[in-house]
Amino acid sequence: MVISVNNHRLYLDYAASAPLKKSAQDAWNSAHCHPGNPSSVHSDGRLHSDLLEKSRQIISRFLGENYDVVFTSGGTESIIVAVLGSLNNSLENTHIIASEIEHSAVLGLLERLERGGACITLIKPQPNGQICPADLAKELRPETKLVCIQHANNETGVIQPVADVAEVLRNHNALLLVDAVQTAGKLALPPIDADLLAISAHKFGGPRGIGALRVRKGLSLYPLIIGGSHEGGVRAGTQNVAGAAAMAAAAEECMRNELTSTGREHMVKLREYWEQGITKLPFKILPVSSAPTLPETLCVLIPEMRGDTIADGLDLMGISVSTGSACHAAETVPSHVLSAMGYGHQDAMSALRISFGINLTQTDIDHSLLSLKQVVERIRATAGSATL
Ligand code: PLP
Repeated sequence: MVISVNNHRLYLDYAASAPLKKSAQDAWNSAHCHPGNPSSVHSDGRLHSDLLEKSRQIISRFLGENYDVVFTSGGTESIIVAVLGSLNNSLENTHIIASEIEHSAVLGLLERLERGGACITLIKPQPNGQICPADLAKELRPETKLVCIQHANNETGVIQPVADVAEVLRNHNALLLVDAVQTAGKLALPPIDADLLAISAHKFGGPRGIGALRVRKGLSLYPLIIGGSHEGGVRAGTQNVAGAAAMAAAAEECMRNELTSTGREHMVKLREYWEQGITKLPFKILPVSSAPTLPETLCVLIPEMRGDTIADGLDLMGISVSTGSACHAAETVPSHVLSAMGYGHQDAMSALRISFGINLTQTDIDHSLLSLKQVVERIRATAGSATL
């Protein structure tokens, strides 16, 4: 089955999934069309194992040298392998700290572990969406085994002080897992001193269904997917070589473009252009946070309107945006992230998330802002049903 694509649409939902980069597509095609299993010892098999290890080296450079890299099926699996693997299959006397605003990949897992007997502490963020490392320090106990903190939030783009969290843990035995799914390809990751760090290819131009876990050297993880000795025995099963090669190609492109100082400056300029344009709209539109934020994730509140209705209106005009996490897009309850930041039901339901990439132009932004204005005016004119 082939999905037909309307190329005239404007895609502004990169935080949910970024478009596949051409380099990644080429790498995938070239690897996938060649027969072979990377565990086979013949020439065709070795071709795949060589490509897999070359891809691992590139991902290792992307994430900071001197760590091990385990390929997984994406961000969720990286997180599960990290959490369950580091607990060594035991929940006895186990305390884990995370923030209330983690992705559901973390929160869903912790809820399950709590039911299994683990003790979980969730830290509330400050009203600006950042967690306070001192709050985390107060919750540390001798039996705290793991701290899970995201590098940036998927709904608000707010960047967390993970270096300060690492500092808090310097003299404690607890391991630090950083969920860098939203920041890989956008912020340099090497400076983060984390024991475990999770990424997902489709957030930075690689294919969906492949990700990686960066593991501090010497840290052994209890294997969850057992069988063969693939991925150092941590994750059994024939590796997705084409996916790994495509993720590596996307990572290389990010290192050449998005992650350079020119790339970062360009993203900041695009963000400023959005923000200036928003102030000129003839209705109130408020940034959700004043904390340091990923330039490419713009989350705003449009008071007295419903974000999902506006997103639907923009969709009809050929523009894809979202109201928050793609994993909860169909829900009609307010986002747990905005609620944890202290926003009431009405405000939280009025959120709109626009997320974009390096190829966005000022013309695209002008077009989006004009469309947003038209959608809001149309909703107001037809009144009632769509307003809160
Ligand atoms: N963590 C964060 C912060 C995310 O944004 C996502 C995906 O939206 C995930 C984890 C899960 O990643 P994946 O969709 O690759 O399983």
